[in-house]
Amino acid sequence: MMRKIGVLTSGGDSPGMNAAVMSVARSASLYGIPLIGIKRGYNGLLRKSTNIRDDLQELHMETVLDIADAPGTYLRTARCLEFMDPHYREIAVNTLQAMEIDGLVVIGGDGSFNGAKELCEMGVPCIGIPGTIDNDLGYTEMTLGFDTAVNVCVNAVRAIRATSRSHDRPAVVEVMGRHCGDIALMTAVSTGSEIVVVPEVPWTVEQVAAKLNKQLARGNTRATIVVAEGCWATMAPFDLYGFLTSHGKQCYEGEPMSAVRFASVMKRMCGMVEARASVIGYMQRGAEPTARDSTFAFEAGNLAVRLLRDGISNQVVGMQKGKVMYMPIDKALACKKNFNRNLYDLANSL
Ligand code: ADP
Repeated sequence: MMRKIGVLTSGGDSPGMNAAVMSVARSASLYGIPLIGIKRGYNGLLRKSTNIRDDLQELHMETVLDIADAPGTYLRTARCLEFMDPHYREIAVNTLQAMEIDGLVVIGGDGSFNGAKELCEMGVPCIGIPGTIDNDLGYTEMTLGFDTAVNVCVNAVRAIRATSRSHDRPAVVEVMGRHCGDIALMTAVSTGSEIVVVPEVPWTVEQVAAKLNKQLARGNTRATIVVAEGCWATMAPFDLYGFLTSHGKQCYEGEPMSAVRFASVMKRMCGMVEARASVIGYMQRGAEPTARDSTFAFEAGNLAVRLLRDGISNQVVGMQKGKVMYMPIDKALACKKNFNRNLYDLANSL
């Protein structure tokens, strides 16, 4: 029997984290296990605050009843670089022992799962729930927050496309996802955007300009280019400074490519009067979760608590073939993430 369970959110926040905490709380209450919320990811376990409630807080049903639909994470989230160091992980284990916490639910991405794996190896039973908008985990068909992030981007791109249409001008839209292009691809396909650029597929500025020119030649003066944020790191070498300054545009040497700069280059390469850039940014992470994300959070939270209650640990919860499942952390982290290349090719060719 678990004396107490702990729950924390770690890494970048994602819509649905609160819904998952709520589900963990309801499940723990149902099985009669007290629940402790750990604040700011693994930092709370290192007892950095002078006021204990800033690190650890008992989560009663009443405390969490209102948070399920709330954006952000009630427990706060943060990165905790010290946690890479075994000495600090010892402190965390001591905190857990002192608090009589016999199992931990970790809601976060692959980094947070690595932290959970380390804790398991030190004898602390852990279960991971994939809380990240990036959808970059190979073992699961969805991560908590991805669906919400895509829907935020779809709404934004639809609005941007309406204005693009009104003014007959193309648009560049940057979406999140770190090294994963899933948000960009789903957004582009769902909105009928003509060009999508993702980190998984090597690309050059000239290739995108050629695609945009093809759209212009077909009479489409208001194409949308959806770009994943990780693309700037995978772009083939391009002399941004030389190009912009030779076209009479101010630019400092060494300036990195960005959505705004990219729109400026496209405008000049394709001879257009105007091309606007929008960066969707944190709206993707801070949005209210969609029903799909909330449902996954609800099921995942319950499964995590049941696993701990039944003495099963060192696992992560996910979704396969539309069903909530679990598998060992090690195995899950080793799964290669597949990119839907067929859909990408179709999106860029129609
Ligand atoms: P995400 O969980 O969203 O992938 P990060 O990669 O930033 O986010 O990881 C979140 C936190 O997980 C880190 O700040 C650190 O506390 C912990 N973590 C990440 N990698 C490891 C690791 N190899 N060992 C121990 N803890 C880790």
